[in-house]
Amino acid sequence: MTAALPSHIEAASPHVMNTYGRLPIALSHGQGCRVWDVNGKSYLDALGGIAVNTVGHNHPKLVPALQEQIGKLIHTSNYYHVPLQETLAAKLVELSGLENVFFCSTGLEANEAALKLARKFGHDKGIEKPEIVVYEKAFHGRSIATLSATGNPKVQAGFGPLVEGFIRVPINNLDALKAATAANPNVVAVFLEAVQGEGGIHNMKDEYLQQVRQLCDERDWLLMIDEVQCGMGRTGKWFAHQWAGIKPDVMPLAKGLGSGVPIGAVVAGPKAARIFGPGNHGSTFGGNPLAMRAGVETIRIMEEEGLLANAVKVGDHLRAALVRELSSVAGFKEVRGRGLMLGIELTRPCGELVKRAADNGLLLSVTADSVIRMVPSLIMTTAEADEAVAILCPLIRQFLQEGEKA
Ligand SMILES: *Cc1c(COP(=O)(O)O)cnc(C)c1O
Repeated sequence: MTAALPSHIEAASPHVMNTYGRLPIALSHGQGCRVWDVNGKSYLDALGGIAVNTVGHNHPKLVPALQEQIGKLIHTSNYYHVPLQETLAAKLVELSGLENVFFCSTGLEANEAALKLARKFGHDKGIEKPEIVVYEKAFHGRSIATLSATGNPKVQAGFGPLVEGFIRVPINNLDALKAATAANPNVVAVFLEAVQGEGGIHNMKDEYLQQVRQLCDERDWLLMIDEVQCGMGRTGKWFAHQWAGIKPDVMPLAKGLGSGVPIGAVVAGPKAARIFGPGNHGSTFGGNPLAMRAGVETIRIMEEEGLLANAVKVGDHLRAALVRELSSVAGFKEVRGRGLMLGIELTRPCGELVKRAADNGLLLSVTADSVIRMVPSLIMTTAEADEAVAILCPLIRQFLQEGEKA
């Protein structure tokens, strides 16, 4: 059991706005895939700060590099050139096969830029009311525009009127996409997550991505792939859409790109690389030297340590172990995802497993009510994956048995 927390943590914070359902845990430090709370209890971290801590905690190469950068420059503004922007942009262009990059600081900000690109792409060719195809169960962020693009009524409730200009379709259904856009001259873009994260770890099929790519080419639409969660090596490719052998026209990135330092980016291909000119878009923090250094060093470490291959190896191991342990358990539906982006769907809501897992020394999350999500650092070892399975599976079995009796 979790030891008692100091009273200042147990009480709801009077000064921090109450926007999160938090566990009664305060973390103090971490090392690799392990973190410790203020009471000294240790946890295996299978959440990785929600797919953010790409290289784990206190990485021996990342920390000194960031310390050195902080001593030189943290922030300068975009009134001046920031050479590290060019370094990171060149690397992202190399890894994606796209053309150029706009930098910002968060996922929603990257998606907001993508939506602006799509609208201006339309306006530039005379479409005054551009419309963008989005998906059921999608999650694109919590600004007014990105929550309007999001396919989750809970995220939208209370914030209307929503931004107009979105057409919503189900995933992996080309006919539905064609029907929803038939004879509509205002469509300018299709906007999707290659693997939906918050919506419950749903993969877009490779074949579907190829079909959508082709449709976008035929109709002169932008294909915009939100890789904020599934990108940066998480599925075992730099970007999850690369499994399908296609390229998007616009690719928002964020979460894992800076290993925890806030950073966002929109990578654009030839069709979208020159839509924005001076004055069309900007961000005060975007591309600051600290964030850029975090991105450059994250990618360097990923390459040096073979973390894409590790994501495949440990992800496959983890998935196989979960399936082996759970396949005969009543109430278990399936394991979805790719690499180290896994969702375990149960037949009933299981949010309380987050607390039970933490009590037993394992950090993870539950999304879409009934999907246990594991998005650990890409440095996780197979031994750590086994440890996660050994903690989690008995808790799932017990939880589902309780449901049977109830
Ligand atoms: C987390 C997430 C976002 C939003 O990112 P923030 O940094 O929280 O604004 C957008 N898209 C996807 C796919 C995400 O997973």
